[in-house]
Order: sequence, then structure tokens, then C-alpha cells
Amino acid sequence: MTGNDTMANHFDVVVVGAGISGIGAAYHLQTSCPDRTFAILEGRESLGGTWDLFRYPGVRSDSDMHTLGFSFQPWTEAKAIADGPSILAYLEKTVADYDIERHIRYQHLVTRADFSTSTSRWTITSTNSATGENVTYTANFLFMCSGYYSYKGGFTPDFPGQENFTGQVVHPQQWPEDLDYEDRAVVVIGSGATAMTLVPALADKAKSVTMLQRSPTYVVGKPDVDPVAQLMNRVLPEKVAYDLTRRKNIAMGEFLYRQTRTNPERIKKYLLGLVRKELGPDYDVDTHFTPTYDPWDQRLCLVPNSDLFESIKAGRAEVVTDHIRAWTETGIELESGQELHADIIVTATGLQLVTLGEADFSVDGEAIDFSQVWTYKGVCYSDVPNLATSFGYVNASWTLRSDLICDYVCRLLNHMSKTNTTQCTPRLRPSDATMSRRPFIDDFSAGYMQRMMPMLPSQGDRDPWINTQSYSRDKVLFSVAVNDSVMQFTNPESISLDEDDDRADKAGHLRQTSQVGGSPKLSA
Ligand SMILES: Cc1cc2nc3c(=O)[nH]c(=O)nc-3n(C[C@H](O)[C@H](O)[C@H](O)COP(=O)(O)OP(=O)(O)OC[C@H]3O[C@@H](n4cnc5c(N)ncnc54)[C@H](O)[C@@H]3O)c2cc1C
Repeated sequence: MTGNDTMANHFDVVVVGAGISGIGAAYHLQTSCPDRTFAILEGRESLGGTWDLFRYPGVRSDSDMHTLGFSFQPWTEAKAIADGPSILAYLEKTVADYDIERHIRYQHLVTRADFSTSTSRWTITSTNSATGENVTYTANFLFMCSGYYSYKGGFTPDFPGQENFTGQVVHPQQWPEDLDYEDRAVVVIGSGATAMTLVPALADKAKSVTMLQRSPTYVVGKPDVDPVAQLMNRVLPEKVAYDLTRRKNIAMGEFLYRQTRTNPERIKKYLLGLVRKELGPDYDVDTHFTPTYDPWDQRLCLVPNSDLFESIKAGRAEVVTDHIRAWTETGIELESGQELHADIIVTATGLQLVTLGEADFSVDGEAIDFSQVWTYKGVCYSDVPNLATSFGYVNASWTLRSDLICDYVCRLLNHMSKTNTTQCTPRLRPSDATMSRRPFIDDFSAGYMQRMMPMLPSQGDRDPWINTQSYSRDKVLFSVAVNDSVMQFTNPESISLDEDDDRADKAGHLRQTSQVGGSPKLSA
């Protein structure tokens, strides 16, 4: 499985996606698995994923770049909460610094992947968007770094009377480059990070900007520059300063998150107190900024330099909390009877969430239904060989987890090299058969995630069948030896008569046995 394969389109590892996760995967593969060949198949014409796709005014991170950045590539800009173009430039620089570009094959949209246990290979079908032709690759290991939402378009619910509106309708995922909103009345529907970002950005030029939300979100203002990081940057070497800031932010983020779990009322009071201080005693914080759920049951919205609050205070933007009765020719009629005039309606109503790059998967001709399998550490899938997915945190920076996953995948690959095995497959132990099913991510009630849960694999109630969504717990989960009693390292075409293989047979999977260490079942 290692070394150079002379077949034109064969690689040891195929990575799907050249966003943060795919670029991180490339760095880790070439650093930790230098004996492996790999390619990145990217459906679009450019790298960066999210940070290249989203082009709406003001687009920015809502977590700090010291944790959204890679562990191996210091974020050196002054702003810790950064705008989209700066993040894209950082990703492009990373690709240039580590000579990753040569591995990327653009305009290769992966549509299916079929694993054969007799050859230990994935056959990966991609469509070249330039020519419309199918291009096939084979790989021993498939690493899905394709993000979590559809690149075909965003999520827009059906609004009654939508067809009546004569103005312009825009979804932030497809922001027209030349959209002229100067002196125009804009209504932004939504209460998530995108709406909170757009409102102050549009308010500079628009005649009026109204953020129309059904229900409020927790919002917290924060300076976009981190003074402690700045100080450390001045007195310490770049990498040391970055590493220390990263650790500080991880610790603070985890502390705050833990507090929201153990002391939700106290944190709620604290957060709402901050909003009251920002907006003054006359503002109706109860209606517009007091959610019905506890902090971090859904993503907390960070507004850099309190820009949202500043535009509200300056009278350049307003928040309306109400339900839509219907769209009209000239705007939106609300349940309260109020009418909002609009020249432009922005539907900041979210993303269309998908699984594994919207591709179809099979093992030995049998389609994989990901909603029916178990997640192994939130990375691999029960009874599916040689497949890993990068899925980050919903309550912290995505990259923290994708970095851990990349490191783990490299250790898996290196273990296979060391033991001369070609397949690694998580299999349920007999004692796991009675596990109760939990959603892939629990304790997070945001609608966009809830919509996705039925498509995703289940968590169990014990290691390693869990997706912790906690950096410190993941550090422990990923640091244990890869050859645990669940991940099985095997080679094809060998027959075992032991009980584990009987179990695998019952599940309709191939009979295999480990070739390692003399153990009939596992590579211990
Ligand atoms: C507006 C916005 C702001 C965000 N801000 C933050 C933030 O501040 N902090 C945070 O932690 N997270 C944030 N996120 C979440 C964000 O998506 C992640 O942080 C991170 O960018 C995900 O990186 P990724 O590489 O895993 O996925 P993506 O950025 O989605 O990249 C996936 C790549 O895979 C490609 N791809 C997908 N399917 C296929 C296929 N079938 N074949 C070939 N290629 C494919 C895509 O074209 C894309 O290039 C934000 C998301 C959005 C939309």
C-alpha cells in the first residue's frame, strides 16, 4: 500500500476537499506519512472552501484565528477575529509555504466512492466540471474533508407570498458581486452569525437595514484584537507566542463552555447584562436579545468591536422580532400587523447541510447508509474500512478538531505500514451490541444541526463510539493507541473462524482476519 504506484490515478490516500480540513490533511500527510502518495480532489476551481465561497459584505470568522488557524502555521495578523479575505490569504500562504498546491486537482467533484475488500481499494468517481467527463481514481484510504454543507446552494424555507415580491432576493451563499444596496431598504431575515455580520456591514451604505428574526440569539461583543496575543507577539518568538495564545484561548473557551453547562443561569445573566450595557436601559433586550434556550445550546454569536450594537445605537440598523405572515410586492407583512418595506431581502436563513460531500458510498457493492452506522470517535464508521471524515467543533473552532483528526489518521496509516496491513475497520465488540443510540452531536439544539442529525451516524454511550465535541476529552480519546480492541487491522482474503468474524458475517460483511502479531482477531 505504500510507495509509488505506477497507475496514473492511484494514490495511497485521496483527500476530498481543499478547505481548512483538506489543507490541514495535506500538511499532516506529507509531514507524518512521507512514504504515502496522496492527492486532494477539489470540486471547485479554487481552494479555501468556506473562505473562498462566502463573499458577502463583512464576511468574517466568529471564533478567534489563534484556534481557527492551524497548529503548525501561526496566525500573525493583529486581528484575532478576521475577515474572509484575510483567512483565505492565510490558507493560500499555508498551501504555498508547504508546497501543497501540486497535490490539488481542481474541478474534480467526487460523486461516488466504492470500496472493495478484496483489493483494499476505494474506486473514486469524480466529475471534471471543466469537461463534464468522469475521472476515476483509486486509493487505499479515503479522507473526506468536504465540510458539512452543500456547495450547490443555501437553505431557504418557503415563505408565503414569496413570488409577490418585486424587489431583489439574495442568499448570502450566492452574493452577487455587483449588488448595489446603496440608499436601498434592506431586510435581512435571520438571527445567526451571517445575519449579525451582514447587518452592520450593509448599514454603512444602505438607506435602512432591518434584521428580522423569529427568535433571538445570544450575542456578545468583543474587541477584534487580542491584547494579550499582541503583547506576547512583541516579546516572544512568533511560534511560541502563537502556541501560548492558542492554549490560552482553548482554555478560556472550554472554561466558558463548561460554565454554560453547569451554571447556565449565571452565564445567561452575565451575557444579557453585557448586552444591556451596550444598548442602554431603554432598549428592549428582553424581546430582541434574550433567547429561550441556555447559552451554547446553540452557537453563541460574537460581534467584533460590538459593531452590531454600534449600528443599532446609531439608528442605522434595527432588530425586529416577529413572525412572517407573507411577503408582499414591496416587503414583508408580519404577524403583528407591522409591514417592513424592502428593496432587497436577504435570506440569511442558513446552510443546506449534507453528509460526506453529497457523494454515494458502497462497500463490496452494498450501499452505505450513514444514518444506520455508528461513529467511531466522530471520525470513522462502523464496518466501513479505510474511511475517515474531518468534522470539527460546533462549540469551538473547527480546526482544533480537524488538526486532531489529521494527526490520528496519520497514526492509523503509519500503524498499517508498520504492521503491513491494508485495512482498518472499526467493528462493534459483542458487548457494544446493546448500546443505546444518541445523535452524532447532542446537547446542541440549533435548527440547522437538528435538520442534519437524522442523516448522520449515531454515537453510542461509551468509548470509542462517541463524538465528544470537547477538545480536552478528544485529546485523550485520540491519544490512546490506535490498535484498540475496536479498530481492526486486517488484510484481504484471509479467513477467520472466530466469533468476531461470525459477527461480521451476520452483519453481511466480509470475513477477514488480522495478519498481525499472531492474534487471530485483532492487531493488538
Ligand atoms: C460564513 C461562515 C463562517 C464561519 N465561521 C467560522 C468560525 O469563525 N469558526 C469556526 O470554527 N467555523 C466557522 N465556520 C464553519 C467553517 O465551515 C469551518 O470553520 C471550516 O471552514 C470548514 O472547513 P472544511 O475544510 O472542513 O470545509 P469547507 O470549508 O466547507 O471546505 C470543503 C471543501 O470541500 C469541497 N468539496 C465538498 N464536497 C466535495 C466533493 N464531493 N468533491 C470534491 N470536493 C468537494 C468544497 O468545494 C470545499 O472546497 C463558518 C462557516 C461559514 C459558512
